[in-house]
Amino acid sequence: MMLATDDTIAAIATPHGVGGIGIVRISGPDAEEICRVLFKPSTDIDFLKDRHLYHGDIISPETGKLIDEVLLALMRKPHSYTGENTLEIHCHGGYLVLQSVLNEAIKAGARPAQPGEFTKQAYLNGRLDLAQAEAVMDLITARTDRGRDIALSGIKGNLSEKLQPIRSSLIEILTSLEASIDFTEEDISSRPYWHRSKDVEDLIIRINNILATYKEGKLLRDGLNIVITGKPNVGKSSLLNRLLGERRAIVTSTPGTTRDFIEETVNIGGIPVTLTDTAGIRQSSEIVEQEGIALVWEKILEADIIIILIDGNARLTDEDFEVITRNRGKQSILAVNKSDLPNQITNAQLHDIFPDAEPLWISAKYGHGIDELKEKIYALASGTEEPIGSDVVLTNLRHKTALEKSVELLAAAQDNLSREDTLALASFDIRSALDHLGDIAGETTNEDILDRIFSSFCIGK
Ligand code: GDP
Repeated sequence: MMLATDDTIAAIATPHGVGGIGIVRISGPDAEEICRVLFKPSTDIDFLKDRHLYHGDIISPETGKLIDEVLLALMRKPHSYTGENTLEIHCHGGYLVLQSVLNEAIKAGARPAQPGEFTKQAYLNGRLDLAQAEAVMDLITARTDRGRDIALSGIKGNLSEKLQPIRSSLIEILTSLEASIDFTEEDISSRPYWHRSKDVEDLIIRINNILATYKEGKLLRDGLNIVITGKPNVGKSSLLNRLLGERRAIVTSTPGTTRDFIEETVNIGGIPVTLTDTAGIRQSSEIVEQEGIALVWEKILEADIIIILIDGNARLTDEDFEVITRNRGKQSILAVNKSDLPNQITNAQLHDIFPDAEPLWISAKYGHGIDELKEKIYALASGTEEPIGSDVVLTNLRHKTALEKSVELLAAAQDNLSREDTLALASFDIRSALDHLGDIAGETTNEDILDRIFSSFCIGK
C-alpha cells in the first residue's frame, strides 16, 4: 500500500466563474501553519478549534495587504475528507479573489494540487477505498437521479461490501486447500475437493450476477446517443420537444427548417439520453441544407439508437425508403407519427420494406405512444424490460474487467480442483482471482493505475 506524500496541496475547489462564495482548499501537514501565517481572525483567539467556522481576513504576509474577508474552517486529521489537516477558506466567489488567496497559500508553502489529488490523499490515507473514490467522480458528473443514487451507493462502499463475503469465502477455501497441499500424504486420495469446486461455482455465480448489471450501469452513467431521422415535416422536431417535455426545436410546416442539429439531453428511465434532431432529409438545392444532410449521415453512424420516423398520414415516398435503407442493420426503432390523423399507410406495407421492425404508432403532437416509445428505447439499450433493482450496479469498466478476470481464474480453479495433481494450480488461480478482486478496492493497485484514475478528476476534488 502506497502512503500519502508529505506535501501540502492547495486548489480552488469551486467552479471557475462568478459566484456567491468560492472555496480554496488546502490539505497536508502544513495546512495549520499556512492558516496561522495568512489568516487574521476578527476576534482575539489563540488557536483555532477543530471544525469551527471563523470570520476574519486573509492578509498577504509579504505586503500586509488585505486579500479577502473570509470564513474559514480547519479540520484536523484524521477527521477530514483527505485524512490530513485540511483548511477550507470560504472567499468571495470571484476568480481573481480566489486566485489571489490560492497564490498566498502557495507562497506560504503549499503546492498546487493535481486533478483529483484531494481524493487521492483520502484514498492513500484509507479514508475511502479506490472504488469509493471513483464513485466520487461519478457523483459529480451524474446527470440523472438514478445516476446520482448509484454513485452515492458507490461512495458508501456498497460494491466493496458486496465483494467482501465473496473474498472471505475464497480466502477460507484457499486456506483449507493450502493446508492440505502441505500434508498431501494424509488424505489426498479421499478427494475432499469436489465440494470445494461447487463452492467456487457458487462464488462465480455471485460475481456473474454483479457483472450482469454492467450494461445498464454503463448506460446510466455514460448515457446514450439517439438520432431522430426521417423526411422533412414528418415530426422530428415535434418528437424531440415531446420527449423533452417542452418546446425547444423550431416546429414549422415548411419542409427543411431544422437546418442544423439540435441536441438536448433528456432523462429516460434514469439514462441520460442525448437526442439529436437532424436536418430534413431531402434532395435540396440549397448548399447549407445539403451540408446539413451530409452531416446527418455522420451523426447516424455515431448513434447508439436511431429513431426512424415515418408520417402515418402520408404515402410512403422515396425519401422514406432511403431513410429506411440507409439504417438497415443499425439498432433502430421504427415510429409512425401523426397517429391522430387518418392512416395513409399500413403495418403490412411497412413490414414489406422493413421486415425486422415492429412499427410503433405515436403522435408527437398529442403525446400518444410516447411512454411506449421511452420503454422501447430503454429496453433496446439495456437489453432488459425493467430497470434493474439490484442494490449494487456496476458502472465502471475497470471494476468490470477485474471481475471478469477473477471469474476466468475461478473457472480455471474449478477445473483444477477436480484433480489431485493440479491442486497447487487451483490454489494459484484462487490467489490471483483474489488479487483481481482486491484491485477494485485498490488494495493491490500500482501508481500508474492510480494516476490514470485520478487524472480524470477535476482540480480541487
Ligand atoms: P420535422 O420537419 O420532421 O422536424 O417536423 P416538425 O416537427 O417541424 O413538424 C412538421 C409539422 O407536422 C408541424 O406542423 C407539426 O405541428 C406537425 N406534426 C408533428 N407531429 C404531429 C402529430 O403527431 N400529429 C399531427 N397532426 N401533426 C403533427
